[in-house]
Amino acid sequence: MTCSDFLKELTDYLDDSMDAQTRAELEDHLQWCHNCYVVCNTTKMTIEIYRDSHLYELPDDLRTRLRTAIVSKCEGHKEQVSDPREPSGSPTAK
Ligand SMILES: [Zn+2]
Repeated sequence: MTCSDFLKELTDYLDDSMDAQTRAELEDHLQWCHNCYVVCNTTKMTIEIYRDSHLYELPDDLRTRLRTAIVSKCEGHKEQVSDPREPSGSPTAK
């Protein structure tokens, strides 16, 4: 399982809506991948906040940003790959 696979399944994992085997694979990934572990915890906390405010769905924007951050962290050492649509390090001031 790669980080991309993990992120694809993450919301289902936190939603508890997946089969035992996929769940075991995700938990195995968490054992060795600190980046995904952090993302998993952050997302879990975010979902709990949203659940409290009766907005269970994660906003797409947040999901995209999490995925971009984790993928560039895991794969960034290969070469400098930057997504032109989302320059890293620029604060979203609105
Ligand atoms: Zn990972």
